[in-house]
Amino acid sequence: MTADIIPHTSPDAHQPCWQEQLAVAIRDPAELLKRLNIDPTQLDSSDVAQQAWSIRAPLPYVQRMRKGDINDPLLRQVLPLGAEMLSVAGFSHDPLGEEDANPVAGVVHKYHGRALLIISPACAIHCRYCFRRHFPYEDNTLGKGEWQTALDYLANDKSISEVIYSGGDPLAANDNFLLWITEKIAAIPHIKRLRIHTRLPLVIPSRINKSCIHWLTATRLKIIMVWHINHPNEIDLSVEETALSLKRHGIELLNQAVLLKHVNDSTQILAQLSEKLFEIGILPYYIHRLDQVAGAAHYDIDDEKILQLQQELLALLPGYLVPRFVYEQAGAHSKSALSLPPTNTL
Ligand SMILES: *Cc1c(COP(=O)(O)O)cnc(C)c1O
Ligand code: SF4
Repeated sequence: MTADIIPHTSPDAHQPCWQEQLAVAIRDPAELLKRLNIDPTQLDSSDVAQQAWSIRAPLPYVQRMRKGDINDPLLRQVLPLGAEMLSVAGFSHDPLGEEDANPVAGVVHKYHGRALLIISPACAIHCRYCFRRHFPYEDNTLGKGEWQTALDYLANDKSISEVIYSGGDPLAANDNFLLWITEKIAAIPHIKRLRIHTRLPLVIPSRINKSCIHWLTATRLKIIMVWHINHPNEIDLSVEETALSLKRHGIELLNQAVLLKHVNDSTQILAQLSEKLFEIGILPYYIHRLDQVAGAAHYDIDDEKILQLQQELLALLPGYLVPRFVYEQAGAHSKSALSLPPTNTL
């Protein structure tokens, strides 16, 4: 093996750090298509959609896309298409009613026992189907001084035992801030667990560096990291090493995916995804029906097809590798399970 004779250098010696990766992420659809040797006229990529919400695709993620394939499942997740500008009945700007569950700036509290903090408005990647693409982040972007109100809210509600770092992507915040706020949260006695919903370790694995591991492991809180991987091609060696390293540090790893037309609406792909996740120490947790957010209707899959995928997956895999098929209903007390239509019951 040649690996044995390559001298060991710090992995950072040749690789840009994550902030540099963010800075050089692709922000121009034409550049992305050019890198992938795709003729732009082949695809209905859209300037209007790009202007409404710009493309953002970090290079470590782009490197996992297949060259010359307009149907690449990773490309499909990031490329602005003309279809985003269509207005489709039932698809709205705030499909989850989050604006009603925003008790104080920076906090979304919808479910018993857990409250979500909007740690960072930014994301390393712009996923075109994202339900937060229209969230009023400007009103929820707090400076250090303003976090006290959110922390007081958590401290005053003893029913909250779990805090969820969300966004945007919480790991787009810097580690000094994350260390600071994690210490503040750990100082609230009734909080036991800290969950981090993030795509950054997938799209820029070098995000999980020493200073990140430091605050993740310096706290008394039990840490759960929920990844967001939709397709097995998103997992390469650097992702595997990152996941295994987090696992070695005692962090629980779960995955949530979104069902997306022309990306992962196939039993085989979903089965491969589950198998691959397990190999790298991540358990499938949720698979979400697409939230009915304006601009994402072209990713939608009908419920009948979703239930068929669920049944086929159950017939193929051990139960622990089948994620829970769920959707969000504004006003519900938890995610709602997708289940067989009532015609099958008495
Ligand atoms: C999804 C979500 C949670 C977490 O729900 P779990 O079922 O515990 O994974 C918490 N708060 C909000 C606002 C959510 O959307
Ligand atoms: S919040 Fe998550 S799904 Fe939405 S754009 Fe950011 S990384 Fe993608």
